[in-house]
Amino acid sequence: MPQSVKATPIEKENIVVDGVDISGQWNRMFEQRVIFRYTPENIEEIAALPGAESLAYCYQCAKCIGVCPVDIVGDYGPRKIYRKAQTGTVLVDSPDLWLCTTCQNCLRVCPKEVNMIKIMPAVREVAVNQGTVPPELQKAFENTARYGNPLGENPRKRAEWTKDAGVPVTIMAQAKRAVDVLWYVSTYTSYHQRGKDAARAMARVFTALGVDFGILGAEEKDDGDSQRLAGEKGLFEMLAEQNIATFGKYQFNKLVVTGPHEFNAFKNLYPQYNGNYDVAHYTQFLAPKVDQLKPLFKKSLNKKVTFHDPCYLGRHNGEYDAPRDLLRAIPGVELIEMPRNRVNGYCCGGGGGGMWLDSFSRDYTTMRLSDRRVVEAVETGADVLAVCCPFEVSRFEDAVKATGNAGKLVVRDVIELVDEAMK
Ligand code: SF4
Ligand code: SF4
Repeated sequence: MPQSVKATPIEKENIVVDGVDISGQWNRMFEQRVIFRYTPENIEEIAALPGAESLAYCYQCAKCIGVCPVDIVGDYGPRKIYRKAQTGTVLVDSPDLWLCTTCQNCLRVCPKEVNMIKIMPAVREVAVNQGTVPPELQKAFENTARYGNPLGENPRKRAEWTKDAGVPVTIMAQAKRAVDVLWYVSTYTSYHQRGKDAARAMARVFTALGVDFGILGAEEKDDGDSQRLAGEKGLFEMLAEQNIATFGKYQFNKLVVTGPHEFNAFKNLYPQYNGNYDVAHYTQFLAPKVDQLKPLFKKSLNKKVTFHDPCYLGRHNGEYDAPRDLLRAIPGVELIEMPRNRVNGYCCGGGGGGMWLDSFSRDYTTMRLSDRRVVEAVETGADVLAVCCPFEVSRFEDAVKATGNAGKLVVRDVIELVDEAMK
C-alpha cells in the first residue's frame, strides 16, 4: 500500500523578477510540485460498498469538522477520514472506523450529503466479515445473538423490575388480551439498575393516567439497531424478524418505546421487514397529555434542569419539543439550555455501537463524549441533567463521577422527574 509522502517545498535561492526579489519561500508558488502520493483506490474501494458511495462526494470543505463531537475530543470527522484514505490509510483497518457514533451532525451541514450513517455500517460490515472487530464490541454482538440482549442478561429476568413498580404491569403472554398500548421497555431500561428506576416510574405514570398498557416481558428482545450501525446487519435482521413475529402475536393499537434507538428502528427500519406500527417515543406519547398530567402533580421540584437531546430522537427523527414540553409542565422545573442543543445537540457517545466501545475509544480521544457533555451541563448551573434515552442515565452518571462533579449535578430520566412530582 503506498504511503503518504510529505511535501518538500521547492525554493530557489536567488530569483529576481522584474526587479523584485523573490528568493527563498517567495518563489514557492511558481513551481509545480508533487505534494502527496495519493491513493484514490482507497476511496474507490469504500465507495464501491453498497451504502458507502457518498464518501467519494467529499470536496474537503471541512464544514463537518466544526460540528463533529468526536473532533472536539480528538482528531476526527468525515473530511479527515476522506483525506487519510486518500493519502494511504485503509479505513477498515484503522481505529477511525470505530469512533463515529453515527450522530448525524456532519450530514446536517454537509453540502455534498456525505452520509456517515450509511458509510460506517457498510465499512464496519467488512470488518465484521474479516473478524477484526474490537473485542468489547464483539462481546456485545455475541451476547445479543445468544441472549437477545447485548448485556448477556438472562431473558427470563427481563421483567423482574415489575415486582417493585408498586403498580400492576400486564405481561402480554399472561394476560391474553388486547391492550391499547404495547410498551417496548428496551434492554437497558429492563436490566440496568438506573434504567429499572425509569421503567418503574413509567409504569406508575401510565397507571396514574389510566393508560391500558402491556409489556412483552421475557419475549422482548433488543431492537438491534445499534448492532446494525456497528456493522452487524445480519444480527439486526434476525432480531427484527423475531421482534416482528412477537409483536404479531398480540393485539394493540400503539407501540410506545422508552428509547430513541428503538423508536428509530421500529419507525424507519422495521417497515422494510413488514413490521408496520403506530410508534411513539414515550415523550411523544405523554406530551399531548400534559393537561391530564398537571392535576396529578403533588409537589414542586424547584430544580434547574438542562436537557440533553438524544441524537436518535432529535437529529435523526426531528423530535425536540416533546421532552421539553413534558419538563416545562412539571411544577418547579426551570428549563435551561446548554449551548449545544436541538439540531446541534452534542452526542453522549453511546450511538452507533459507541455504547460498547468506551475502552477502545479511550486510546484515541482526550475524554469520553459523555464526560464532555457533563462538563457542559455543569457549566449551565443546572441541578439536574434530564435525559430520555436508556443509554444515557448510565453514561452520564458515570461521567458525573469521572469528571469530579458528584454532588453538583444529578442525572434523571424525564419520566423519573414526572413521577417524582406526582409523589
Ligand atoms: S462537510 Fe461534506 S463535503 Fe465538506 S469536508 Fe465534510 S464530508 Fe466533505
Ligand atoms: S456522524 Fe457524528 S460522530 Fe460520526 S463523523 Fe459525523 S459528526 Fe462525527
